[in-house]
Amino acid sequence: METKIIDGKEISLMVKNEVRDKTAAFKEKTGKEVCLAVILVGEDPASQVYVRNKKKACDYVGFKSLSYELPESTTQEELLELIEKLNNDDSVHGILVQMPLPKQIDEKTVIDTISPLKDVDGFHPMNVGALCIGEKGFVSCTPAGVIQLLKRSGVEIAGKECVIIGRSNIVGKPMALLMLRENATVTVAHSKTKDLAEVVRRADIVIAAIGKAKAITADYIKEGAVVIDVGINRNAETGKLCGDVDYENVAPKCSAITPVPGGVGPMTIAMLMNNCLESALRFSGENI
Ligand code: NAP
Repeated sequence: METKIIDGKEISLMVKNEVRDKTAAFKEKTGKEVCLAVILVGEDPASQVYVRNKKKACDYVGFKSLSYELPESTTQEELLELIEKLNNDDSVHGILVQMPLPKQIDEKTVIDTISPLKDVDGFHPMNVGALCIGEKGFVSCTPAGVIQLLKRSGVEIAGKECVIIGRSNIVGKPMALLMLRENATVTVAHSKTKDLAEVVRRADIVIAAIGKAKAITADYIKEGAVVIDVGINRNAETGKLCGDVDYENVAPKCSAITPVPGGVGPMTIAMLMNNCLESALRFSGENI
């Protein structure tokens, strides 16, 4: 069986190009800019890379990006004050606070303070609730990106057995709700699941979001399954990035699979751009 390699770089570029075209049309029609505010607290090197990549993506699609780089010693009060200021600024459409935050700041309070109308990460309880009951809201970017990868690769979702491994608030749970919305039959597995391999072998579509290098081996996979690997891990021996799936041995059994890097990863920022544009369109009442 030929295995299709789902190319996240190519599909994310498609999404970003669509956002870029619509952003240009929005500017032309309204005279306004789409604006994303990104807040980074402290000097975590991985977070600095993520923030830099988000700024680059804003430049690519033609957004204005506001960047706040605050010291590690920033108090919760100071951060909340900045968020409130951005909540009340009509020219700002999306607010993103890069996680993790220093320990003196409570992440949940920060998420709850961002206006749900500008919560382009889709983490606010109002947006999570909206997803749960099928109302409009912002969807967490990584799971939203997985849906785009599947749809744009021609993978049929409706009626399929989907097993999601992982139940975090930012990946596993919203992923399950999105697959349900697409009419898959959804199972969510986690660290307490008994006989994980047997559960995963039922799946037509496997979505791994565990955070453990190469945890999903070929014996977990049904012949012909579609495998989406959300994991981003460092291989202890080679130091290279790798997913949660043992790619070399799993790929020959699959009908389609995402590589790491170059699969789900690039989709997250593309969907962030998409969410921010959607926010600007909603605020202005435009339909482009
Ligand atoms: P997380 O919050 O640590 O959640 C991991 C989940 O995996 C938990 O639900 C945990 O179960 C489950 N799990 C852990 N070990 C397991 C095992 N041996 N068998 C079955 N389930 C197990 O992680 P996350 O934030 O969801 O991220 C998951 C992975 O995706 C990480 O590698 C992360 O770097 C990556 N990620 C990638 C992107 C991207 O843009 N591509 C975005 C976000 C995250 P319990 O609930 O029972 O503990």
